[in-house]
Amino acid sequence: MPATDLSQSSPELVVEVRADLRDLPAPEVAEVARWLMQVDGGLTASESGEWLVSRSPATGHVIGRFPRGTGADSRRAVLAARRALATWRTASPAVREAAFLAAADDVEARADELARLLSRETGNALRTQARPEIASVIDLLRYFAGAAYQAQGVTVPALPDVLTYTIREPFGVVAAVVPWNAPAQLSVVKIAMALSMGNTMVLKPAEDASLVVLEVTAILQRHLPPGVLNVVTGLGPEIGAALMSDPDVDKLSFTGSTAVGRSVLATAAQRILPVSLELGGKSPAIVFPDSDDDRTAAGVVAGMRFTRQGQSCTAGSRLFVHESVFESFLQRVADAVSRLVVGDPLDDATDMGSIINEKQYARVVSYVASALADGATARTGGVPQREPHQQGGWFMQPTILTGLDATAAAACEEIFGPVMVAIPWHSEDEVVEQANASSYGLAGYVWSRDVATALRMAGRLQAGWVQVNRAGGQYPGLSYGGTKESGIGREFSIQGAIDSYTYAKSVSVDVSTQP
Ligand code: NAD
Repeated sequence: MPATDLSQSSPELVVEVRADLRDLPAPEVAEVARWLMQVDGGLTASESGEWLVSRSPATGHVIGRFPRGTGADSRRAVLAARRALATWRTASPAVREAAFLAAADDVEARADELARLLSRETGNALRTQARPEIASVIDLLRYFAGAAYQAQGVTVPALPDVLTYTIREPFGVVAAVVPWNAPAQLSVVKIAMALSMGNTMVLKPAEDASLVVLEVTAILQRHLPPGVLNVVTGLGPEIGAALMSDPDVDKLSFTGSTAVGRSVLATAAQRILPVSLELGGKSPAIVFPDSDDDRTAAGVVAGMRFTRQGQSCTAGSRLFVHESVFESFLQRVADAVSRLVVGDPLDDATDMGSIINEKQYARVVSYVASALADGATARTGGVPQREPHQQGGWFMQPTILTGLDATAAAACEEIFGPVMVAIPWHSEDEVVEQANASSYGLAGYVWSRDVATALRMAGRLQAGWVQVNRAGGQYPGLSYGGTKESGIGREFSIQGAIDSYTYAKSVSVDVSTQP
């Protein structure tokens, strides 16, 4: 949706989001396709007149520019969302359902184009990541279409001659901020949950993946009244922080790092606002001796989300393997990893694309370099031999480290890159203790053929989501979210939408004949 209707007088300034990889020339502003923010049903640039430029992390080429929004822009968007609230919160479930179903059809009609933009912008491989993510967007819109019908209350038999019942009320204006790793899916799940429950929203996507979100939400806008959904863009500490602290916002919903999540929670504390937080993880994958087989090895590789460069909050990045099968199982995992094709995200032969940006690349490489300096062994991958500019992008091979203690930095801090640490274990109590000795509690994976063992382990792990003998991603209907420092609230399910995006109002009516 590059704009054509923009009129502005201030000079255009361009700020690079990503460093240039191959000494490509700085973009000429006028030549770069522009995307605009969506406020009150219209398209708009930032009041500052400044722009951010998005380059592909896999090639360094400029894809487009988008507004560097400020607090003035988020304010306009919040006020538009507030104006739209009165009619949207009373719109019938059928109206909301029709809007979501029509939007899903429109997204489906443009699925491949959207997946390509997603792949170019994030470096995520088209076949393994970008197409499935757009498919998930369509599924989510269809799943939540009928959610409003399910926002039911209860009757309470507490007092004679008093009819007490509850109804679910939307909070009002939701401020939502999302990260770049699954930008379309994580945006749409928040939009669908909040809007289906009668809230309106101002959404800010990540600066590394704003264009695809603007494209997807532009499709949604065609089916929504003005102001119900507003999308602003810019830098987190600028417009993101301003949006979260806007006095007319009624609910905060954030997906991203635990560090920023903490600051969102502090902001919420100032006004006693409800919050949903989907934060970081360092999830354990535990392999029992009866599962030393290739199917489990493939599952562990899938759970590590290597095909998303490990940039997943649910990555099973701490691999605990029973000592009796440690070497043989690790060989199976290394064999499976060695078959992954790393390269051009748009090539259908590619399994794994590029890391999102220079900062993240440097961070991941420094974790690996420090671990190796501390005596770890890289069974696969390691510090890249070639410089990023020689490869054309922020590419890194999938890396498996051994020889580290469970308390080493690479083994207990979230790296958010293609790095898995493998650790042997010898007793169930010991591995449970190590798995739970984390500030995070997002996901966990158990691999065992023995049903009693698997169910016992599922009960013992401190995590919002335990998968047994599988390692898939989130799906509609699953109440997904973390415990401990991984977050507050549940997403992806209608129950999560009701719990996280409405409050229960009790109504008591005297029905006696003599008041
Ligand atoms: P991040 O916290 O740096 O940024 C996330 C979003 O917050 C971006 O849109 C950014 O612009 C914005 N932001 C940054 N500073 C802000 C501030 N002061 N106020 C308001 N907004 C601000 O995280 P990231 O690096 O983009 O994403 C990676 C993190 O997200 C990882 O920790 C990962 O585990 C987590 N994540 C969690 C889930 C989940 O469901 N639990 C899903 C995906 C990613």
